[in-house]
Amino acid sequence: MISERTLLMVKPDGVRRSLVGLIITRIEQKGLEISNMRMFRMDDAFARIFYAEHNGRDYFAALLSFMTSGPVVALEVESPNAIALVRTAIGATRPEERLPGTIRADFSIQLTENVVHASASPTDAERELALVFGDSRTTLGTVHN
Ligand code: ADP
Ligand code: MG
Repeated sequence: MISERTLLMVKPDGVRRSLVGLIITRIEQKGLEISNMRMFRMDDAFARIFYAEHNGRDYFAALLSFMTSGPVVALEVESPNAIALVRTAIGATRPEERLPGTIRADFSIQLTENVVHASASPTDAERELALVFGDSRTTLGTVHN
């Protein structure tokens, strides 16, 4: 089975609530490989590009404000079927559809402040990983992960 890469991101509420370690532990315990990691704070321009598909929705301004309210922790996760596995692990977008045991179900009852983001498709994953990590793999002039 071909390995896939996806983006899992702890959102500003998850960082504020000190859930980063716990979320990383869940991913590691499941057997998924974390192949890159970065903590950073989105500015408005970055958030607009990252969430471009939501531009024009009534919640877009609130989403931008939330996503720029503090640092995020981005993880590149690698495994066969990584995109579907990580989406399942984070739980549904709508609070009432989140299954117990998923990250969102266990840590949030809110629609916007839902602790984590994960890429929804192979196209999204490639685009989001490029936005977040760019060429970070080669910044030391050598392969370092
Ligand atoms: P997901 O993060 O599960 O892929 P979407 O791509 O639909 O969900 O939305 C991106 C993010 O925008 C959500 O995680 C949530 O933070 C926020 N969001 C989505 N829909 C709404 C909504 N109707 N009202 C407020 N915030 C929303
Ligand atoms: Mg989405």
